[in-house]
Amino acid sequence: MLRLILFLIAVGTLAWGVIWVGDNPGQVSLNWHGWQVETSAGVLAGGVALFTITVALTYRFWLFLTRAPGQITASYRERRSRKGYKALTKGMVAVAAGDAEESRRQVQKADGLLGEPPLTLLLKAQSAQLNGDELAAERFFTAMLDDPEMEFLGLRGLLNQAVKRGDDVTALELARRAQALKPKSEWLAEALFDLEARAGTWLAASDALNHMTKLASASKGENRHRQAVVAFGESLDAEKTGDPVKALKYAEKAVSLDSAFTAAAVRLADMYLSRGNTRKAQGVVEKAWGLTPHPDLVALYFRARKVANGLSKVSALEKLLSFKPGAVEGHIAIAEAALEAKLWGQARTHLGAAMEAGRLTRKVFTLMAELEDQDRSDKDQVRHWLARAATAAADPLWVCTNCGHVTQEWSTHCPKCRTFDPMVWDTPPGLAALPAQQTHLALLSADTPSQD
Ligand SMILES: [Zn+2]
Repeated sequence: MLRLILFLIAVGTLAWGVIWVGDNPGQVSLNWHGWQVETSAGVLAGGVALFTITVALTYRFWLFLTRAPGQITASYRERRSRKGYKALTKGMVAVAAGDAEESRRQVQKADGLLGEPPLTLLLKAQSAQLNGDELAAERFFTAMLDDPEMEFLGLRGLLNQAVKRGDDVTALELARRAQALKPKSEWLAEALFDLEARAGTWLAASDALNHMTKLASASKGENRHRQAVVAFGESLDAEKTGDPVKALKYAEKAVSLDSAFTAAAVRLADMYLSRGNTRKAQGVVEKAWGLTPHPDLVALYFRARKVANGLSKVSALEKLLSFKPGAVEGHIAIAEAALEAKLWGQARTHLGAAMEAGRLTRKVFTLMAELEDQDRSDKDQVRHWLARAATAAADPLWVCTNCGHVTQEWSTHCPKCRTFDPMVWDTPPGLAALPAQQTHLALLSADTPSQD
């Protein structure tokens, strides 16, 4: 608006000036170095205006000539970097899509266009990994460590590579370095804990867990159980270094952190028993059984109650089972003791209850064969149960939830895949029988006359 008003004023003034000069032509006389110019004021004013315009235009043309190369270069650079970022984006999409060839093509393009190596390093590394060139990827991740902005990304890449090739020592070193850079990273805290635990550096693992609890990266219950497993590991270490007091202290800690932690309860009860503290051992077993009934607790209970023969075993078990009535493991334990005590009716009742509860496994069928053999000497029934046992599912064992590896003894790590705390008490996949069960079956079969 203001510009319009100024423009109108300027046009008005100019028009008035032209009219005024036309009304008052006047005379101008100029004498310069012998040159005599006679003209009107209007012509002179026009000449001056023309001269001014010519000078202004020449100046602008000169400015254009001097600035043009820079402007052209800048716009060229802008076009190149635009293309470079586009290639970078396309490369990232190709990596996400798993298109190795396209990612390699785009990363070359982006690298040539952008001329900023740090920016393309991550894509180069990821593309190299996608093309199966782990060595090149490692080179790019290592190059990233020199740039403070990229260091964490480089460490993460190298850490993943170390974990993948099973190099725990390097992985732990990298994880510790990365955590110093980004202490709030949750996945890193988890990875660091896992590596510390795997290395058996239980104190550092405990610190890592406390850090995870602060970050709230896992539930409190989950972390409590992990702390219990760590305490279990510390107890094992203390025993190895010949410190039984510390070993007991950590076993107690493990159980107090997680009373349902079977392996810790078994260890603690065993430690109490070896110190002659049967009352405490009995208490630990009863509490653990009430939460997670497990066959390993049965033998400890017999030791704690100082029972040796079948009849006293049955009566001791009746007390233990009252802490978790109806548990399948309880039915099987009492059936075994009843068989030993020749209480056939009781054995039959509890084996029936176990099968009714869905425990159709080798052990239960073998015990049924044993019962039929000893109680009624019914060879047909013995053969029937042995035949069922031969094709039945295996009994529960410690199974790794990560790789399916099966063991008889619980451990802090899977002995096969080295995952931390993956063992659950479960029916193992497949029909793999344990040597002990096979022997048991073989003995029974030997007693049984062949059909042909
Ligand atoms: Zn495993």
